[in-house]
Amino acid sequence: MMKKNWKIACKMAKMIRPLFLYMILAIIMGIAGFLCSTFIPVLGSMGIMNVLGETTVLSLKQIFILVIIFAVLRGILRYAEQASNHYIAFRLLALIRDRLFQALRALCPAKLEGKERGNLIALLTADVELLEVFYAHTISPVAIAIGMSLIMSLWIGSYHVLLGVLALVSYGIIGIWIPTYIAGRGKSLARQFRDASGELGNHVLDSLRGLEESLQYGMEETRLFEMKEKSRKLSILEGKMKEGTGTNTAITNTIVLFLTLFFFVCASYLFLAGQIAFEGVLVPFVTFVSSFGPVLALASLGSTLQPTFAAAERVFEILEEVPVVEEVKEGVIKEFSGADCKNVTFAYEDQGKETEILKNFSLELKPNQVIGLVGKSGSGKSTLLKLFMRFWDTGQGSVNLSGENIKNWNTKSLRNQESYMTQETHLFHDTIERNIKIAKWNATQEELEEACKKASIHDFILSLPNGYQTQVGELGDTLSGGERQRIGLARAFLHNAPFLLLDEPTSNLDSLNEAVILKSLNEQRKEKTIVLVSHRESTMHMADQVYYVENGRKS
Ligand code: ATP
Ligand code: MG
Repeated sequence: MMKKNWKIACKMAKMIRPLFLYMILAIIMGIAGFLCSTFIPVLGSMGIMNVLGETTVLSLKQIFILVIIFAVLRGILRYAEQASNHYIAFRLLALIRDRLFQALRALCPAKLEGKERGNLIALLTADVELLEVFYAHTISPVAIAIGMSLIMSLWIGSYHVLLGVLALVSYGIIGIWIPTYIAGRGKSLARQFRDASGELGNHVLDSLRGLEESLQYGMEETRLFEMKEKSRKLSILEGKMKEGTGTNTAITNTIVLFLTLFFFVCASYLFLAGQIAFEGVLVPFVTFVSSFGPVLALASLGSTLQPTFAAAERVFEILEEVPVVEEVKEGVIKEFSGADCKNVTFAYEDQGKETEILKNFSLELKPNQVIGLVGKSGSGKSTLLKLFMRFWDTGQGSVNLSGENIKNWNTKSLRNQESYMTQETHLFHDTIERNIKIAKWNATQEELEEACKKASIHDFILSLPNGYQTQVGELGDTLSGGERQRIGLARAFLHNAPFLLLDEPTSNLDSLNEAVILKSLNEQRKEKTIVLVSHRESTMHMADQVYYVENGRKS
């Protein structure tokens, strides 16, 4: 576990490279700031000795001026250190988010089809946020603590070697031994807390989404009870964690107290043995007492860093994951002249288990042909369309467009040749116009309306309070199933690609709307090649040929 955390810490540290100079600056300012604050009491002790009539290096006046300068500097330096640390942290978080989005873009859609959606959201928000702890509150404090411990030990050691060694060992106990010890103790609790809080979040979201089902089947009380239970569990864990933090602070402070006492005894012994003068007791002692700040900052790191390491581990997993489908940036660009798949065998991998969906499947589409696919639910019809879109790569066999294997196609250009209407139309939280225009961002109003007329949705849109500018509610649930489906179709028509892949385009429509859409499709069949998946016989009538998909094969 320790070793793994080191590895993650190294990876995180490597990401700082572009901001390395800021980091050095933060560390130097931090050390200077702590030196100022440590030397204020030290100067004070020199002042007392001066008043007592002992000879000191500095005069009383010089000591006063220095104390004032150090006090002002301390404030400024602390501010500058914190400012640069946070600048580094937030610049890096932005950078990491950007890299995560790029990685996800490459991993999708296969990644999003898995069961990890909720997890991915947590990753992009909470997990990335947690990395701040490492960049703003770990690296420079560690460097500052090391620097300060060495400087202070040397300074104290200049009065007597033994005292210097004693100081160094004390800093080590507080700054290294305590955080690693506490890290071990708080680890499982922090993990449990994060899991429990994630669970509660999921449950609340799930309950809100399923409110109608809960009401229908009288499940409100049960859901509420479950929610309360989860929240109770969470607060128990939180209490334990707070208790742990309290105990840790108490233990740390007690140890500091004992170390101070021990230091005092040693210094007094050296004084009595005539090894050092009175100044050699007072100045090192005051220095010792007031120099624990940097290492104390590390003492509490042990527990706060645990969730950060867990989060970073997940972030790096995504950054390093190899996409199922590699995007081809160069690649072949061709005019569309038919599509086919040859001897395709395909299986989804689900937690290491593979179930074959398509077996030795072949299909050919000549230009301007309309091919229908029917088959039982779960037989692999949607899967086949996704293979044509290259959302997944085939295991064996090949999928070709214009006679060229789609793995060699320029991926962007490939998808421009295709209009894919998915079985579930997703609507963005935006206006209807912008929702349809995602298919062609620079479409004119004319093109937009034409596509909507073909999809039999134009009149409906005009009947809405703000027409095309009407906002679609979140999750699109202010629109009926059929309306959403027709918006999906309008997108496919607007995209205007030569190869149309339609997954159940009419399943939610009444026969009147279906007729309008079939008419539109019929008008376009001279310039389009269409794969049509449908359970409706009336829709299948327009296909030149209908195939039945069963047990991964075609008949
Ligand atoms: P329907 O008529 O109900 O739409 P379909 O013929 O379109 O069914 P597909 O969506 O192709 O069926 O799914 C075929 C099988 O593959 C189903 O058993 C489904 O559960 C499974 N499946 C689909 N997507 C995935 C995935 N991403 N990971 C694992 N299994 C999947
Ligand atoms: Mg399907």
